[in-house]
Amino acid sequence: MSIKRFSFSQIKEKASRMRPLLEKFPLSELDNAFLASNEYAPLIGTICDEQINSDDAWDYPEWLHSKVGTLDPESLLKLELKQLLREYLEDKWPARMNDKDKDDYLEKTSKAIKDAMDLFLKASKSPISMFEDRTYSALEVFFMLRRIPGFGHKKANMITRDFIYRSLGLSKSHSWFDQVKRNSPHFNVVDEKFLDMPIDVHVVKVFNRIFGRKFAPRGWQAELPNHIADILAFSKLAFPDFPAKLDQIFWNVGREYCYEGNPKCLECPLNELCEIGTLVSK
Ligand code: SF4
Repeated sequence: MSIKRFSFSQIKEKASRMRPLLEKFPLSELDNAFLASNEYAPLIGTICDEQINSDDAWDYPEWLHSKVGTLDPESLLKLELKQLLREYLEDKWPARMNDKDKDDYLEKTSKAIKDAMDLFLKASKSPISMFEDRTYSALEVFFMLRRIPGFGHKKANMITRDFIYRSLGLSKSHSWFDQVKRNSPHFNVVDEKFLDMPIDVHVVKVFNRIFGRKFAPRGWQAELPNHIADILAFSKLAFPDFPAKLDQIFWNVGREYCYEGNPKCLECPLNELCEIGTLVSK
């Protein structure tokens, strides 16, 4: 089964049941004192945050700082970042990653960190001073972030969304936003209705499952591009005022309940509106 089997009114009915679920998924606060005090730490954490465990990605800047004594771009550009990242991740790799995946990740991520450092060095800016003391539209921030090496559309959407959450007072802290705000007290991000939600494998998996498709033969990652337009349209139905909010539900459900091989449907908050969950409950 797929979304093609559903009428617009059925899709809209599922979308209308999303908003009340938000309160079950409080915003995650990935901050720590180090991330909030070093202007390059949130940037490096963001670049690392894919394929590996999120907590490990966000702890890496502090580990790197303790190892080499600085996150200053000039210093990082002289280091063997790939080797350092390999050392840090030695006992942290997810089981699903094979040796080639690991090497590709190390190569791509260490290069992106260096390229980002080079960009900021040449511009005489930092991830904090790149923002002026004024209000920005969501799309301006999105495209500013997209210029940074290692920032695809998903990461640019994710950080822009997090900046909006802080601007609206919906989250308590955000290491990157709060550093910008200390530097530039009038910094704010608005126009949240124009921002797309970030889409990863968890989002694709949950979206497909609520419309009745349990498995993807080639894996959800391989199928991700095929579902982006449908998910974005669904997010606008669910949260027309702030479509990126849908990620708060789908991402958490994907991580906590909707496991690949054995989803915990009986405990899942989406159970009653999910086609797979409904089958399991019967
Ligand atoms: S009910 Fe089951 S299949 Fe549906 S989203 Fe929840 S865990 Fe996934």
